Amino acid sequence: MVDLPWSAMRLTLVVPCFNEADGISRFHETVGRELAGTGASYEIIYVDDGSTDGTFDELVKIATVDPTVRYLSFSRNFGKESAMLAGLRHSSGDAVIVMDADLQHPPELIPRLVELHGRGFDQVIARRTRSGDPATRTLLARAYYRLINHWADVELVDGVGDFRLLSRRAVDGLLELGENNRFSKGLFAWIGFDSVIFEYENVQRENGGSRWSFRKLFEYGLDGLLSFNNKPLRVAIYIGMMLTLVAVVYAIWVIVVAATQGVEMPGYVTLIAAITGLGGLQMMMLGLIGEYIGRIYYETKQRPHYLVKDTNLTPRD
Ligand code: UDP
Ligand code: MG
Repeated sequence: MVDLPWSAMRLTLVVPCFNEADGISRFHETVGRELAGTGASYEIIYVDDGSTDGTFDELVKIATVDPTVRYLSFSRNFGKESAMLAGLRHSSGDAVIVMDADLQHPPELIPRLVELHGRGFDQVIARRTRSGDPATRTLLARAYYRLINHWADVELVDGVGDFRLLSRRAVDGLLELGENNRFSKGLFAWIGFDSVIFEYENVQRENGGSRWSFRKLFEYGLDGLLSFNNKPLRVAIYIGMMLTLVAVVYAIWVIVVAATQGVEMPGYVTLIAAITGLGGLQMMMLGLIGEYIGRIYYETKQRPHYLVKDTNLTPRD
């Protein structure tokens, strides 16, 4: 696979799109030029993630003039993770490049990705700098990565996103992970294989803001923390043990004081603080356990990751 000359290699580009009508044709032009420049044969799979702005019509238009284009349209918005999964499933290339549709992943880097793959890397990862990002977002991201790398079973790198090239066996590896809750950063890290990271200058989005709201991003972050470890549950046990110990010590102290100095009036403030504090803590831990059970619940349903409304993929694709 790796020994193939570029001209004998087949590339698949997977592009999740959600409300990208404004920029998609420009994206397609740019990307087509870069792909043609590599000398490899290629296909581009656009996955329309339930857009409401005419992205689908644009894709159909592009596909009618360009035979390398495959498209797939979801019945509603299922999220970028599902869109990537659909693209990977239908990819036929010896190597697959996953890329955003908003030109924030510079198409000029495609030759670089292919070249590094040619040197034997199964995952070639483009890592963005954080220049131009709002300071608060950068800070939050840093703190988050510190936290997640402390907890999670996989190692995540700040600035590393979904923009990468995957070899066929890496893609096949990813497709074997059937979980419903797909935290792709974690999944990419989980499969392993020889990886290389190179850096590129951050690019700001041109058409509108990020398609991620703060809430979506927060939930995504929480997903990451919970999907790849069960340490929070263990922390709950530790906290419980610690509190029990404190309670026992406190009880002994009260008994000793009562025995030596007579019975004291209890302090209501301490009592109320203890009740509410412990109640809050218990609710939090219950919520945490509930979160894991919720995940089990969703996984056991074995629902499909997405439903397809329209596509030009033929069964043999
Ligand atoms: N996207 C998607 N489904 C979603 C949200 C986003 O397919 O629900 C696509 C979007 O069209 C883009 C990529 O995922 O191609 C990254 O989205 P965006 O640029 O909004 O995210 P950011 O660059 O802020 O991470
Ligand atoms: Mg973007």
